Amino acid sequence: MSKHARIITIPRPELEKMQAFLDGKGDGSLNTIETYTVKFDDHGEGDVQIDVKVCDGDTPFVDVVMFQDGSEVSCLEPDDTLAGKYVFQTVLKDTYIVLVGDSFPGTVCEDCGNTEFYGRQKCRMDVIVDGDNNWLRNTPNDDSACYDSESPYGPYRCTECGKEIEEMARYT
Ligand SMILES: [Zn+2]
Repeated sequence: MSKHARIITIPRPELEKMQAFLDGKGDGSLNTIETYTVKFDDHGEGDVQIDVKVCDGDTPFVDVVMFQDGSEVSCLEPDDTLAGKYVFQTVLKDTYIVLVGDSFPGTVCEDCGNTEFYGRQKCRMDVIVDGDNNWLRNTPNDDSACYDSESPYGPYRCTECGKEIEEMARYT
C-alpha cells in the first residue's frame, strides 16, 4: 500500500485553450480532442498508465482513465476542469496520483504528490541563561521563542513518504 505520483505540465496558453473548449458547448460528437498520458513504473501491479483526455460530447468533459498492462481498469467521474489532481486506487490499495497544471508552486513529491517537506532553518531564539551567561535551557515554548530566521535549506524530506529531495525544483 503505497502512493505514486506523476505530473502533467501543460503550457498555460494550451491549458487555457483546452479549458475554453471545456467551458464551451461542444458539437455533440463524441471525439477525443487531446490526450495527456503518464506512465508509472511497475510497483507489482503491472504497468500502470493514466490518460487524461479532453473530450467532446453533449457537453465537453475531461475523461480520466487508468490502464493496467494495457487494459482499461478504471475511470473517474467526468470532470469539467482540466487542471487538478486525479486520484485512483487499485484493488491492491496502491494510490496513483496525477497532477495536471501549467506550473506547480515549487516541488511536488514524485512518489506521493505531497507538497510539504521537512527542511532545515537557522534561527535565533530566546533562551534562559544563568548569571554567568551560560545556557541553561530553552524557553518553555520554542515556537514563539524563535525569531530572525533565515531561508530554509536542504536536504529536504517529504513529510508523507520520507523521500529525500536535495533541492527544491520548479516544475515549469
Ligand atoms: Zn512523498
